[in-house]
Amino acid sequence: MGILHTTSHILGFPRVGAKRELKFAQERYWRKELAEQDLLDIAKVLREKNWRNQAASNVDFVAVGDFTFYDHILDLQVATGAIPARFGFDSQNLTLDQYFQLARGNKAQFAIEMTKWFDTNYHYLVPEFHANTEFKPNPTHYVNQIREAKALGLTVKPVIVGPLTFLWLGKEKGAAFNRFDLLAKLVPVYQAILAAIAAEGVEWIQIDEPALALDLPAEWVAAYEGVYAQLSQVNAKILLATYFGSVAEHAALLKGLPVDGLHLDLVRAPEQLSAFEDYTKVLSAGVIEGRNIWRANLNQVLDVLEPLKAKLGERLWVAPSCSLLHTPYDLAVETQLQEKNPYLYRWLAFTLQKVGELNVVKQALNQGRDAVRAELDDSQAAADARASSKLIHKAEVAERLANLPANADQRKSPFAERIAQQNAWLNLPVLPTTTIGSFPQTLQIRHARAAFKKGELSLEDYEAAMRKEIEYVVRQQEELDLDVLVHGEAERNDMVEYFGELLDGFAFTKFGWVQSYGSRCVKPPVIFGDVTRPTPMTVRWSEYAQSLTNRVMKGMLTGPVTILQWSFVRNDIPRSTVCKQIAVALSDEVLDLEKAGIKVIQIDEPAIREGLPLKRADWDAYLQWAGEAFRLSSMGCQDDTQIHTHMCYSEFNDILPAIAALDADVITIETSRSDMDLLDAFVKFNYPNDIGPGVYDIHSPRVPTANEIEHLLRKALNVIPKERLWVNPDCGLKTRGWTETVEQLKVMVDVTKKLRAELA
Ligand code: GLN
Ligand code: ZN
Repeated sequence: MGILHTTSHILGFPRVGAKRELKFAQERYWRKELAEQDLLDIAKVLREKNWRNQAASNVDFVAVGDFTFYDHILDLQVATGAIPARFGFDSQNLTLDQYFQLARGNKAQFAIEMTKWFDTNYHYLVPEFHANTEFKPNPTHYVNQIREAKALGLTVKPVIVGPLTFLWLGKEKGAAFNRFDLLAKLVPVYQAILAAIAAEGVEWIQIDEPALALDLPAEWVAAYEGVYAQLSQVNAKILLATYFGSVAEHAALLKGLPVDGLHLDLVRAPEQLSAFEDYTKVLSAGVIEGRNIWRANLNQVLDVLEPLKAKLGERLWVAPSCSLLHTPYDLAVETQLQEKNPYLYRWLAFTLQKVGELNVVKQALNQGRDAVRAELDDSQAAADARASSKLIHKAEVAERLANLPANADQRKSPFAERIAQQNAWLNLPVLPTTTIGSFPQTLQIRHARAAFKKGELSLEDYEAAMRKEIEYVVRQQEELDLDVLVHGEAERNDMVEYFGELLDGFAFTKFGWVQSYGSRCVKPPVIFGDVTRPTPMTVRWSEYAQSLTNRVMKGMLTGPVTILQWSFVRNDIPRSTVCKQIAVALSDEVLDLEKAGIKVIQIDEPAIREGLPLKRADWDAYLQWAGEAFRLSSMGCQDDTQIHTHMCYSEFNDILPAIAALDADVITIETSRSDMDLLDAFVKFNYPNDIGPGVYDIHSPRVPTANEIEHLLRKALNVIPKERLWVNPDCGLKTRGWTETVEQLKVMVDVTKKLRAELA
């Protein structure tokens, strides 16, 4: 008998390019600095690079169809004819320009709404379904990419998101109906798309159904059988791909589906393997983490795969856990990191390194571990070094967490007592006004920062420039007659990066970009080691700001959950532990601020909702440790110190008990866009502490009218006792210009004064 071959494949690849080439080309195209054909050409070169990079790693199939000019779910809306009718476009003959209008809006129509792709930081464009939505197949996107890759001599496996996940991710618009009812119309359109793909001569088609990892209603789960019975009539084999969580609860269903293979995410949910070991078709084991930056321990991976291969033989496939879209492109370009943190560099793997790891796994399975001994030894050595590194496992951090005082996360007294003590010294009018922290990040500020980073501006001059900004911000607020002032955050590039740079245990990459949406990429900090705070981070800025005014200055920190959520987090200890480490480090800052006389301190947690696990059964555990971490970050502070928090742009209704359990003295929260609807939920829940619902949208330069703000404030006053109501914008003002900011805040303050007079 010959050697049993293990097939390797990729579920999807980053699209924007190693140097964000696609982003820059798109943006130039949007500015009309680049012709359409040039954009198309650049994209074609990128696709070829992506495919060649996959092929160079010896995969049996390169992924095609996943490349997109904006979003793969938008591509699917086009392919199924389900683009929003309100644009008046013909999905069969959509121009590139129109495609971008769908994504970015135009003069007449707002853009298709965006939301997070499962629990990643990628955002997809939410399909808009109406009761009368009609679908129409347009397989061009897939067919073209298949042809292009095949012309390069590559063996391809087209990738498309499946109909149930597509429907699930959409939203019902217009008259009430259930989008599930559209399934019967959608499936034949999928059949037509798949037939067109199969006609290109492909052996396998990967159909992604990550919705299976969510809590799907029974009706939706039950539909898989019938849908895939129809789809499997296509003249190609179907690999049904699941990822981001366990699908073990659907094992019986999945094993019975008439598809030819199944992909499982064995990084997120390794335990689900046991439910599928007796699967009788191709089992694709997702063993290389597709959404972080850490190198795998390849021996450990093989310890799982070798016995599996003994059972499955050639039916075992290996792959990354999910699309590599969520990892940066190439570690090799991070020469600075390599010099500065050589040990850390050895523990990392970006997309190109991950496909390399996949190749080692495949070779080990096909030829035995000895064939790749050097690579395996290297992987082992890196894993061992990381496990025992004193640079990242600091005894004093573990000890401090283990020995926190009893009830460390509880304030000394209940809210009622605290707020009385706070009000006594704060002496604020009713409906106190404040802002969320940042003031306009002017060109001037950004130029100063850039010059400082390039060494063209000395530290002294840079800091002097920032102090000047702070003084300006303070004077503006005094003139506006705001009650609780902020320093404006001029010195901060980004609310997470700023703290990451000052905390130990964080590192930064130069090109570690991942797509957030469209042409937008983010470069998250890397939390690689135990977190400590070597020196105070914000105290001298806040102190300086306070020294300029007799009014109260609010200190401004980013909360532990948000710092965690917007970083690449180490995977060798639980996220909850990392979060608590950050919290404890922040608590030192809170106490230092307090000592310096800053006794109103805001701890921002806009990302708390984003951390929610995909399955509801796991919510409580998360909310428990996230809440504890938030509370720990002000541990030990005095009762008369007022802790604020801020949240925005999330669905908060279903986590209100957890938000209340944060026990912040004041929460400021974005509400203006929903006409204060969110407030109803807070009221129904009987939210106990002070609350500042946002009274105007900060996304627009438009100055709200006094009537609009008055309407919102009256609405708030109807349901919240005036003693507990604050007045503030929805969120930070850093993206605004100064002129509109002053005008907007002026209206806010004027209306507040009018209502105050009425209430007096
Ligand atoms: N304090 C931050 C700011 O004002 C909060 C930003 C946010 O909520 N995302 O910019
Ligand atoms: Zn906000």
